[in-house]
Amino acid sequence: LTKNRLSLTEYVKGVLDGDRMILSRAITLVESSLPSDQLIAEKVMEGILPYSGKSIRIGVTGVPGVGKSTFIESFGKILVEKGHKVAVLAVDPSSQQSHGSILGDKTRMENLASDKRAYIRPSPAGSTLGGVSARTREGMLLCEAAGFDVILIETVGVGQSEIAVKGMVDFFLLLMLAGAGDELQGIKKGIIEISDAMVINKADGSNQEAAKNARREYANALHLFPAKENGWIPPVKTCSSIYQTGLEEIWEMVVTYKQKMLVNGYWEDNRSRQRISWLHENIRYLFEQRFFQNEKIKNRMDQILPEIRLGKLSVMAKAKELVDIFTGQIKDIE
Ligand code: GDP
Repeated sequence: LTKNRLSLTEYVKGVLDGDRMILSRAITLVESSLPSDQLIAEKVMEGILPYSGKSIRIGVTGVPGVGKSTFIESFGKILVEKGHKVAVLAVDPSSQQSHGSILGDKTRMENLASDKRAYIRPSPAGSTLGGVSARTREGMLLCEAAGFDVILIETVGVGQSEIAVKGMVDFFLLLMLAGAGDELQGIKKGIIEISDAMVINKADGSNQEAAKNARREYANALHLFPAKENGWIPPVKTCSSIYQTGLEEIWEMVVTYKQKMLVNGYWEDNRSRQRISWLHENIRYLFEQRFFQNEKIKNRMDQILPEIRLGKLSVMAKAKELVDIFTGQIKDIE
């Protein structure tokens, strides 16, 4: 990539023209950790920034097997039929552990992937959560600049990735399965608390009755949570991603949410807050990258790690010392 990199203008123009190949290359560029790539990536982001932000950003989460891919494929299909352009991005922290990334090696969503009105970007394999989420946001802006007006961000639940995704979307959708009251305990309470809606998927066939019951149970359980500051009461819905029922209602709910939040000012407030924490996150990410790549730090680490391992040095004191070395507050170490 580095060798036959496009020029800044080619990237920006290509993205704004909605050229999918250039969009993909631009996302790869922002995902790159090469300093030379990052330099041009920053400029590309500056160039497209004025054309970003005009989408509805929706996070979709739920345990593996709940039907996230199937849901996104069916939901996405309905949206493109309505005239929307839909981009799907994934945050997949498991990709660093498992070999093939769960979301990365998609032959899933084939139907949507082959649709010109949709764009599916698998998550980069082997990235850390911090890196993936930091770059997912940039990827999202690039997709918006390329004309996609609905962004679906899929995340597979380990808690941390949901929080990261919540921090970059307008609406956070939790997919659930019917069949057990204790299922609610299985999903982390924190995830339920940050959800803007709960959708019970696979409400089809012999499962329909159970889905209805679950809906009632969840709705009751949700009453136990404090009301949201934006006045929104998270609805509980049912759908079947395979038989494509209940999906229209979910879209209508999202549209209603947007209308209400535009009126009460929460929509823009939320995005403003997200931009600030995005800045903080970028700083942390950059700082960490530079810190661990720093030669002085690497040397000093090598010296102290054996004793840290044995518990002979204070972690607190040494962490501070390392940061002081990095920031130049300690100049000479022998
Ligand atoms: P993910 O791991 O959350 O992405 O789940 P998938 O989309 O891969 O779906 C897991 C399994 O559930 C697959 O076998 C799907 O065919 C099935 N599935 C997904 N949605 C539905 C649905 O609405 N109804 C039924 N009956 N099965 C579904």
